[in-house]
Amino acid sequence: MWSAVVIEEALFEPWGYMTEVEYMLVELDDKDEKVRLVLNGDEVLDTLQGQGEKINPNHPTLWRPEYGSYMIEGTPGQPYGGTMSEFNTVESNMGKRRREASSVLNQNEILCTITSFPRLGCPGFTKPEYPPTPFESGASKSLFFPDEAINHHPRFSTLTRNIRHRRGEKVAVNVPIFKDKCTPSPFVETFPEDDGESARAALPDHIYMDCMGFGMGNCCLQVTFQACSIDEARYLYDQLATFCPIVMALSAASPFYRGHVSDIDCRWGVISASVDDRTQEERGLKPLKNDKYRIFKSRYDSIDSYLSNCGDKYNDIELTIDEDIYNQLLGAGIDKLLAQHIAHLFIRDPLCVYEEKLQQDDENESDHFENIQSTNWQTMRFKPPPPHSDIGWRVEFRPMEVQLTDFENAAYVVFVVLLTRVILSYKLDFLIPLSKVDENLKVAQKRNAVKDGMFYFRKDIFKGCNPGLDGTSSVQNGLETGGAHEEYTLMSIDTIINGQEGVFQGLIPILNCYLENMEVDVDTRCTILNYLKLIKKRASGELMTMAKWMRDFVAKHPEYKQDSVISDKINYDLFVKFNRIAMGQEQCPELIGNPVNKVK
Ligand code: GLU
Ligand code: MG
Repeated sequence: MWSAVVIEEALFEPWGYMTEVEYMLVELDDKDEKVRLVLNGDEVLDTLQGQGEKINPNHPTLWRPEYGSYMIEGTPGQPYGGTMSEFNTVESNMGKRRREASSVLNQNEILCTITSFPRLGCPGFTKPEYPPTPFESGASKSLFFPDEAINHHPRFSTLTRNIRHRRGEKVAVNVPIFKDKCTPSPFVETFPEDDGESARAALPDHIYMDCMGFGMGNCCLQVTFQACSIDEARYLYDQLATFCPIVMALSAASPFYRGHVSDIDCRWGVISASVDDRTQEERGLKPLKNDKYRIFKSRYDSIDSYLSNCGDKYNDIELTIDEDIYNQLLGAGIDKLLAQHIAHLFIRDPLCVYEEKLQQDDENESDHFENIQSTNWQTMRFKPPPPHSDIGWRVEFRPMEVQLTDFENAAYVVFVVLLTRVILSYKLDFLIPLSKVDENLKVAQKRNAVKDGMFYFRKDIFKGCNPGLDGTSSVQNGLETGGAHEEYTLMSIDTIINGQEGVFQGLIPILNCYLENMEVDVDTRCTILNYLKLIKKRASGELMTMAKWMRDFVAKHPEYKQDSVISDKINYDLFVKFNRIAMGQEQCPELIGNPVNKVK
């Protein structure tokens, strides 16, 4: 959430990249057989910064606050460079972070890379325990999630309150419940503390959640790339946007919400609804009277326009823009695609403004822009350099769910970084109409999408647009012949990743071909091969996604009553297992395979 701040501090090399991992602090109460989220992120952060970056500017890790007071976010001290051998350091830096943070926790407390805490919002889910605060005067007015579980920095409760006030009612998240043999049908809950608002918002057969914490209280894995030029950044932004749904499905890790088994595998839609500050008019539920625009998506959602010249013809989503800003930008010589992107970001109101920062010298400060940018949480983020800085243009890839182990997280990061290398080296073109990417994103979040989902994907990625990165103008070639619908077809994730004769060559074979032509030392190559093997096997179904593995664990648990309920005991056993696997005390071949473990 504060990623802009972290990244801006560091200088990147060309083709360098930075990874952010979000963590939860969890107490394993062996006596009561319960797990709770520990609300001491502030203290942990102070300790980590105090013994790290505050005394050593070259400290190898950086720590930042995140939305939940039980969360922290970690990045390497420096971005990774563009060389191949640095792929060998991603996992070891993640390991360093895990050990460093684990070492400052109290006894029985553990650091977890879990996308969503299965019993978030259930009675007694925090340590210390607090009752929910369903009052108008509080931040979230939630029936389930106490304001104490929100990070104590005023930014976070202000965001929470202002989203609710701007919307005119509490946010409403409804996730379809997984109907097991004994799940009540219809599944309807009653809320004794409710003043009527939740009863109106909750849908039957859905798990209902009512505040920002249910979304932004989830963890993810993000990668920011350094581009060599603005054109390269725009090209990369567009190309990577087409991968968001694919990599999201591959990383699926969040099947449980508020103590129930859901019918989705990914957090994305939950966060989207949890920060949806649009009014009823903006959502199209009422005719526009007081508000300026009809707005089609939440502030946390997929991107709405491509930025490169090659992408323009695939921009088929209706784009709401602030006309004044658009014209101002055009007048200042900014091209149409970039101007509309910025003018689209600015249809959102600022959510949190500091009085002392209201007056800015816009020639020298980009605070006002960063304020809007950092609360437009889209699948991709295009990051202009701050004024007067050496940092170039960067692009952030944001859809991935965080994985249980450092090995898996490193594998996903390296996979996506390698993708950018082949895209740029071979000038590949994955673009399809943006509305199709949106359709893919919906499919990606469904239960078991990695096996069952079909995704629109471009058939010929070598015969696309010349992105014009070598200074030539952007000409489109070979695209107009058969009509746009013939450029792409529906494919499974297995086909996209591993290839299928006569349909698509597959991303892993393309990456392997690239790697064969690169100078890579044996050790690094072995590391990369382990990572690609994980991705390959997750895509083929030979290995489970985290989401599937969690579902199986619960389904087999002796206490599970086939009623879609995750009890305290089930949750506890799950976390005991998580911790053993994440700490390397136990193998989990069905999730991770048997990687040759040599990177330490
Ligand atoms: N935790 C959020 C997610 O899971 C991202 C917050 C951020 O932008 O750092 O997507
Ligand atoms: Mg974050």
